[in-house]
Amino acid sequence: MIPFSPPRIDQKIIDEVNDALRSGWITTGPRTKKFEKMITAYCGHESTLCVNSGSSGLELMLRWFGVGAGDEVIVPAYTYTATANVVVHCGARPVFVDAGPDFNMDVEKLRAAITPATKVIMPVDLAGLPCDYDEINALVADEDIKGKFSPNNPEQNKLGRILVLSDAAHSIGAKYKGKKTGSLTDVSVFSFHAVKNLTTAEGGAICLNLPEPFDNEDIYKYLCIKSLHGQTKDALAKSKDGNWQYDVIEAGYKCNMTDIQAAMGIVELERYDEDMLVKRKHIFDLYSKAFAEKDWAVIPPYETTGKTSSCHVFLLRIKGIDEAERNIIISKVYEKQVSVNVHFIPLPMLSFYKNSGYSIDDYPVSYDNFSRVISLPVYYNLDDDQVQTVIQAVTESVEEVLS
Ligand SMILES: *Cc1c(COP(=O)(O)O)cnc(C)c1O
Repeated sequence: MIPFSPPRIDQKIIDEVNDALRSGWITTGPRTKKFEKMITAYCGHESTLCVNSGSSGLELMLRWFGVGAGDEVIVPAYTYTATANVVVHCGARPVFVDAGPDFNMDVEKLRAAITPATKVIMPVDLAGLPCDYDEINALVADEDIKGKFSPNNPEQNKLGRILVLSDAAHSIGAKYKGKKTGSLTDVSVFSFHAVKNLTTAEGGAICLNLPEPFDNEDIYKYLCIKSLHGQTKDALAKSKDGNWQYDVIEAGYKCNMTDIQAAMGIVELERYDEDMLVKRKHIFDLYSKAFAEKDWAVIPPYETTGKTSSCHVFLLRIKGIDEAERNIIISKVYEKQVSVNVHFIPLPMLSFYKNSGYSIDDYPVSYDNFSRVISLPVYYNLDDDQVQTVIQAVTESVEEVLS
């Protein structure tokens, strides 16, 4: 069976994790700080805080911005549930926006979804393709839209407009007009979950890139406290001779990254551009070339003018089929010993959101994308022969259903 996306655990990762274990320091410490600096240098934003998941990074930033009851946060209808769940945790209302044909949020529909209650927009770089950030950043800076913004705390006053909090869970290493994700919006959050391009088993990073008069280094220091129970000193600082005293300035959260996780991340990021991204693009190229010959296939965009994807998942769409036919194709592919997937079931179709009053009928492009999509395996150890096996299994299965 060809698996869908096993992590790459090689000797380098094992050695670095071993070193972390043997160092005697396993929670947040020198390796986490080093990994944070590496991410900042890699992406070109101002400052990075590593956390225990992408979800907690997103939620921490919503809470930092004071998002709560009565507020609206705009998210795509077509994303993983984490994007919207964190909004619900804060007591705010997620407002879904339909996808465009490239799977990302449709910017014109996004504009129409903005109300005086909108506090944050959370674009998702779906499958690794950056969103239209020039358009989104221009939207929040638009004088009419700024005029509708109603700040109700010091951070919101200071920004004076809607915050763009990018859910970049899929897109580390992707580029938009020469700049990397992480540096494209006010704040971006990466996920290092086991299935993501760069993994620390579980983990995430908050990339701070807020405009003046914000001081991103000050916000970093504050978030260190907020992500550790509101305690003014972390374990490392307290471990220094006689430095036992501490204070708690708020009832903070507990979502710091450990040095064991950071050990994996350091190894992965060091070789990310030269080997992981090259390998992923190679697999995307093989799939694209093979399926471009089939008149039933729609190849996902991954290199367009101004955009380079991180090639996270390959979202193949089949022309002229419905959801039931897509499901039959997936079963047939599995019978041929190949794991495929669907990224994602649109949020309005999931029980919790359906029962909260959302209807998929309001998001026709999301439904259309979903009903015809099959995500194909993309991972470091997938070799060319296995890619050919996937291509053959998918082609035969689709042609059986279409005939
Ligand atoms: C994986 C993912 C997340 C959350 O990441 P975790 O690190 O698992 O919390 C958020 N958004 C999207 C779109 C994701 O795919």
